[in-house]
Amino acid sequence: MTATSHSPEITIEFHQSPVPDADRIRALETPGFGKVFTDHMVLAKWTADKGWHDAKVTARRPLELDPASAVLHYAQEIFEGMKAYKADDGRILLFRPEENARRFAQSAERMAMPAVPEELFLKAVEELVRIDKNWIPSGDASLYLRPFMFANEAFLGVRPAQEYIFCIIASPVGAYFKGGAKAVSLWVETAYTRAAAGGTGAAKCGGNYAASLVAQAEAYKRECDQVVFLDAAEHRWVEELGGMNVFFVMNDGSVVTPPLGGTILPGITRASVIVLAEEKGLRVEQRPYSFAEWQADAASGKLVEAFACGTAAVLAGIGLVKHSAGEFLVGDGQTGKLTTELREKLVGLQKGVTNDEHGWTRTV
Ligand code: PMP
Repeated sequence: MTATSHSPEITIEFHQSPVPDADRIRALETPGFGKVFTDHMVLAKWTADKGWHDAKVTARRPLELDPASAVLHYAQEIFEGMKAYKADDGRILLFRPEENARRFAQSAERMAMPAVPEELFLKAVEELVRIDKNWIPSGDASLYLRPFMFANEAFLGVRPAQEYIFCIIASPVGAYFKGGAKAVSLWVETAYTRAAAGGTGAAKCGGNYAASLVAQAEAYKRECDQVVFLDAAEHRWVEELGGMNVFFVMNDGSVVTPPLGGTILPGITRASVIVLAEEKGLRVEQRPYSFAEWQADAASGKLVEAFACGTAAVLAGIGLVKHSAGEFLVGDGQTGKLTTELREKLVGLQKGVTNDEHGWTRTV
């Protein structure tokens, strides 16, 4: 589907009764993850005749949907996840937001939805962050931004909808994993898979996450933090976690991560880690890595560290790995040295502490 060629103006409608300062400040002290929301949101509409229109930042409020709204039946929905950080010098920084805009457009294409022009996406994100800037926590916390789009045409019938809503909400967040820097434990799922070749694995669509929930529940049942998915065809190759990409660090200076073959999400943290690891002189191999190889490398000591990465948790060391036939530890079961170094480097860039030689941060 074609997008409008120019980005429309964004109207600003200030909230008439925002959260009182004292309540907001209290909420920012222990934000948790995804539980507290800011005063405003972005809304824009798309119709086949007008393209994108009525873009605005407005008071956050419940949306009214017709019960026949296409998204409720055929799940035409996509989303993004990104963060705004407050630097020590007071600047507000976004990390590679153009990459989120690009991935959002790619997800839209896969789900037969209209693309949000990159210019509109970025401008909308920036306007919301600016208006709700008092909601950006300082220190290790940040403001999580959730752009999403869904089919809003009221009809029953399987075809791409003719009406969509683009929305962005924002939520101050602390650490994603309650254990902080402690290594996470993983459950290797062999019964349920996440995405098959030709499917929607590379798109950030809600359906992928709905499909992952029973496997994540299996992980919780086994007291693991996250689930690792294997490929759908052979149940042999490591793919990714429910919401993070995965890396394996070897004792020979190589780092292995599963390739982008259409079944995993092309993570922006993943892409950044590849650059940073190569700059450290490591050899990054984007290649299929089997669960059998993982077990053998952990047993032989070739595998010294493994980590998961994504916007929410940045980098998290992988410690204990459980599977249907037993369990094993990666390295000594703690967060490894390279994982810690890469995490500090990335967080430093995101918070404006480290010199941004890649031009990855964008000041709002
Ligand atoms: N894989 C999945 C399934 C995810 O949901 C995410 C989070 N967006 C990632 C990987 C990591 O992507 P990013 O680094 O862009 O957050």
